[in-house]
Amino acid sequence: MKAAAIFADNQTLKVLTDIPEPKLTAPDDVKLRILQVGVCATDREIASFIVGIPPAGSDYLVLGHEAIAEVVEAGPEAGDLQSGDLVVPTVRRPCQDPACLACRSDRSDFCMTGLYSEHGIHKMHGFMTEFVVDEARYMRKVPAAIREAAVLVEPLTIAEKAFIQAERIMMRLPWNTPGTPGVSHQAVVVGAGPVGLLGAMALRLRGCRVAVYSRERQTDPRAEISRAIGAEYISAQDCSLEKMAAGMSNIDLVYEATGSSRLALDMIHVLGRNGVLILTGVPGGNVHEVIDIGALITNMTLKNQCLLATVNAGNDAFDRAIADLSSFCSLWPGAVRELITGRFPLEQFATPLRSSAGIKNIIEMVS
Ligand code: BGC
Repeated sequence: MKAAAIFADNQTLKVLTDIPEPKLTAPDDVKLRILQVGVCATDREIASFIVGIPPAGSDYLVLGHEAIAEVVEAGPEAGDLQSGDLVVPTVRRPCQDPACLACRSDRSDFCMTGLYSEHGIHKMHGFMTEFVVDEARYMRKVPAAIREAAVLVEPLTIAEKAFIQAERIMMRLPWNTPGTPGVSHQAVVVGAGPVGLLGAMALRLRGCRVAVYSRERQTDPRAEISRAIGAEYISAQDCSLEKMAAGMSNIDLVYEATGSSRLALDMIHVLGRNGVLILTGVPGGNVHEVIDIGALITNMTLKNQCLLATVNAGNDAFDRAIADLSSFCSLWPGAVRELITGRFPLEQFATPLRSSAGIKNIIEMVS
């Protein structure tokens, strides 16, 4: 069978055609036919040989961690999964350390040792291939009604995990109630990429007033999508952060989804009292800035602010993403459709890996 792989040693991207088709090896395994795989900034970094580690003993890494798949075979202990079911596989697999409370509690997204693995990223092959065999417990079932959008579930889980945590933090304020963040809250989403726009949709679904602040102009499709979901779009080309903040009352939540460390720091200055700043970007090292750290910490302390950095996602975030995506598809079908801007056959997988044009590019695995 075919698979899209990167070889770090000679820095090449290649479609392999002679990979043996995997077979069930345990009673709780399922075999998946991969339908679509999304391409994100992490994949582009792997394809630029900045990050990404192949499985032990392999000189290549099969890419892909954002997938929608169909179950084609289920072992006798695969729970309620059956042939024909649609699933989104989770990305991370636990470390083996008995002392890792996170992994032992089925929360490898909070792994304490760093010895986890991740499909298509870190020590495990990914989903950009025709068939995958994996344990049933790592599959999240998806309703057929959202088959065409479900490739967006994984990037949405990043926002969902962040908001599940932010909700708990915001509930420290006695006047906030379950359903927080919600109607009484103002949120700024920084960056109108897929992670930002999907996050904006999740916040709008909960009734927040949302401003999407990004570098594209007001005529860009990302601005149109923001407006279609009832968010305000503010272009960084014609509005400074300060001006944006002055146009809002207290900013309760900032969801930073650009990966720009400078912007992340700048957001602290506009975050409101008791506000939560969520960081999801991975800008990498060697970004040096001169900042007034004293003023920064003073400001954060005097305003009871919280900084929440978050990576990967657990089952709770996947299940919430699937439920929320179903709502997005009913409320804003056009906006959801417009998030997917490029579709490529496996043979052309390198094209969206070498360019960040468009919003979400996907690989169609089944023609
Ligand atoms: C993925 C996460 C993963 C992270 C770091 C992101 O692109 O969505 O699941 O944990 O990269 O590897």
